[in-house]
Amino acid sequence: MLEIEDHSAGEHVAAPRQRTAAVHAGEPKPPIADAITMPIFQSSSYLLGSPEEFDDIRYIRLNNTPNHEALACKLASLERTEAALVTPSGTAAISAVFFSYLRAGDHVIAPEQLYGGTRKILERLITDYGIAVSFVPYEDPAAWERALEPRTRLLYVEPLVNPTLQVPRLDELVAFAKGHRLISVADNTLLSPYNFRPAEMGFDLVLHSASKYLNGHSDVVAGVVAGAGGAVRGVRKTLNLFGACLDPHACFLLQRGLKTLPLRVAAQNESALALARALREHPAVERVHYTGLVEDPSHARAVAWFSGHGGVLSLRVHGGVAAAEQLLERLEYARVAPSFGGVQTFASRPATTSHAGLPKALRQAMGVSEDLVRVAVGLEDPGDLIADFRQAMAAIRA
Ligand code: PLP
Repeated sequence: MLEIEDHSAGEHVAAPRQRTAAVHAGEPKPPIADAITMPIFQSSSYLLGSPEEFDDIRYIRLNNTPNHEALACKLASLERTEAALVTPSGTAAISAVFFSYLRAGDHVIAPEQLYGGTRKILERLITDYGIAVSFVPYEDPAAWERALEPRTRLLYVEPLVNPTLQVPRLDELVAFAKGHRLISVADNTLLSPYNFRPAEMGFDLVLHSASKYLNGHSDVVAGVVAGAGGAVRGVRKTLNLFGACLDPHACFLLQRGLKTLPLRVAAQNESALALARALREHPAVERVHYTGLVEDPSHARAVAWFSGHGGVLSLRVHGGVAAAEQLLERLEYARVAPSFGGVQTFASRPATTSHAGLPKALRQAMGVSEDLVRVAVGLEDPGDLIADFRQAMAAIRA
């Protein structure tokens, strides 16, 4: 029905570079009524035509309106996968994948360190449906092998761990999954396809909270599943049965946000590196976690696999929680808020935001200390951000 510029992997000899894909992939061609941008199709139903099966009947709940299709095409092009799908949140993308692939009696292997919401889905939601989970240390391949069970089906990974910002042994994890015929799933939210494309490394499915970098303006909640055509179609069927769909207006906003993803993330990579370097030198700072710093334990892996280190860093200042709170209070530009990936700088203690739903002892075991501050750099001038952090830390003593 909708003719669009399709630049997904395999369709062309050379895939377009990210800036080109962000602008051109998934755009109507020829333009609809000569409009330069993709219009919003705010129509729940469409003429029936002759759909091949139920999920092809056009209806917003079935996630197949022109806005869904155009967006899916742009996302697949950016992630260099055959297909993609948008979901009403990142959390919906994660749970739709689990409920698509797992049945009672199946088993999942996931690392100990994960976004708190994902950890809760694994620990408290899917276990109620008879699915077992083993949490393993990222750095211990022998433990991954020991965790294997006859019905292990899926391996779940975050290529850049939030908020401690380590890079796992991604190449070995992919080989482990392939060797044991596990479905490998990577949550690429923190890096975005501008910095890393997990499917190129061999991951089967790529997930996103599009509420972060993909949309980029802190005004949409959405998610993405990208991968091979059959796999994405299967997840869409599950999503359709849940009745979960992204509204066409939110699709439009996300499609608009994606056009500037490469420019935004490139600027955020640069600013985060400049801020990390300045923070590392500051006497009030005990530790900075950022893979762009040469001394960071994950630096070599990040340089080998990523084209940028991302816009998120974390730090601990001398003086514990009280000093961390003082820093947050005194910052002029950084908004003290959860989430990341927007145009404004955000700062928060993950113990009170992304990981607040987990018990304190578990947070400690995951390396999320109570005083850890996560900073998600926005698009402000990096010089202003550095000056702001310096003034906010002036009263904190080593
Ligand atoms: N994955 C990661 C890494 C996240 O940080 C988040 C949210 O912070 C999610 C998934 C969930 O995304 P959403 O808030 O869009 O449901």
